[in-house]
Amino acid sequence: MLSAWVSVVPQLPQDTVRRADSEAEPESIPNKLRTVVIDAGHGGKDPGCVGRRTRESRVVLKLALQLGRKIKREMPNVRVIYTRSTDHFVELAERSAIANRNRADLFISIHCNASPSSSRVYGTETYTMGLHKTQGNLDVAKRENNVILQESNYQQTYKGFNPNSPLAHIMLANYQHAFMGSSINFAEKVERSFRRHADRKSNGVKQAGFLVLWRTTMPSVLIETGYLTNPTEELYLMSEDGQEQIAGAIFKAFAQYKEEIEAGG
Ligand SMILES: [Zn+2]
Repeated sequence: MLSAWVSVVPQLPQDTVRRADSEAEPESIPNKLRTVVIDAGHGGKDPGCVGRRTRESRVVLKLALQLGRKIKREMPNVRVIYTRSTDHFVELAERSAIANRNRADLFISIHCNASPSSSRVYGTETYTMGLHKTQGNLDVAKRENNVILQESNYQQTYKGFNPNSPLAHIMLANYQHAFMGSSINFAEKVERSFRRHADRKSNGVKQAGFLVLWRTTMPSVLIETGYLTNPTEELYLMSEDGQEQIAGAIFKAFAQYKEEIEAGG
């Protein structure tokens, strides 16, 4: 049933059409979804991007907690772990370490986007680890990675990674390769769900080098839930209805992904 349904769904725009060959995937690809780590981006001294009325750290915390509540309510057997549940600063490396320590089966990092050049840009994007294909994708990763400059030992923690260097981002692309197929699968479900259930403009599934995904040892995505620099989208993301729709859409994608991998892929 599921495969028939999938075949009639139009493909979302996507940077990488190449999927990891399922035969090449190692045994470590989860076939049960027991533990999910939900990562609200930024926090504390790092507000993330800012709109006219709100800041990213505040919006994404609400979205993360709401998504976690839905999963706990509907799926009591799934363990939900937050990288932060209050407004405090967590280093990027610690976020992925939390997921690895808890042997998470899926890592969901939640963010809001910003366009420095135009307030007209809007829509959602879900990223997986990989090589950026456009300057725009690289810019998003640079902005999200720049926070390490506020960490005290960043040169040791990230082995000299320079968040301003395009080459450094290209080198990051090789990580997470084993989980690329599963990560893209979940990312596609998130973007499709945003279109169907939250009436969002989906800008598709994209790839770039994100430090927060770098060392995770499970399928991982980074969701840009909308642009705070677009006044309409900012109001939507701040509103209770908007937050309910966004968290609900991610939850529906999560439920579908869980069902699919537990049914054997
Ligand atoms: Zn962010």
